[in-house]
Amino acid sequence: MATPREETIEGQTTLVVPAGTGLPRKLDELLSAMTPFGFSYREDIVPTGTSVRCTVERDHRLALIREGRWLAYHGLSVNAGMDRAPSGSLVPVVRRIPPGVLELRLEMCRDCGAVCVRDVSSEQYFGARPARLVNRETGETRVAPAVARRNIVLGWYSGARPGRREYV
Ligand SMILES: [Zn+2]
Repeated sequence: MATPREETIEGQTTLVVPAGTGLPRKLDELLSAMTPFGFSYREDIVPTGTSVRCTVERDHRLALIREGRWLAYHGLSVNAGMDRAPSGSLVPVVRRIPPGVLELRLEMCRDCGAVCVRDVSSEQYFGARPARLVNRETGETRVAPAVARRNIVLGWYSGARPGRREYV
């Protein structure tokens, strides 16, 4: 298994988990794996190819290109920010996403073509109380689980070499 490494993405220190424990190595492979589920959103854009503002300002102008599902066979480890250890030093917090079908949003940079992959799956929100739904007419009570939508960046596909976008 490859070792996670730290990189600076969008000006933030990000723990990057190399292919094998994360997303497919190439964007084409991810899209192929999503195709059997069907896409709830599908819109192709052609990046302008200019990436000065991306590399210099680290600012990508993202446009939604796909919404759909993907089966994560092995689960994923993603960076969930930094936390302070008892020693006082900052340590990266890794969030484990269990194996299963994930709802993904793919956004492409209009300039350099880099693709940001977000997990927007619904999940039981820890600490949230289930909602009680009471029908005022009948008095019938239903309990709805508290559900929240994740919004976690799983990774980026580099736009530097179009057609050969790799998980970074
Ligand atoms: Zn960009």
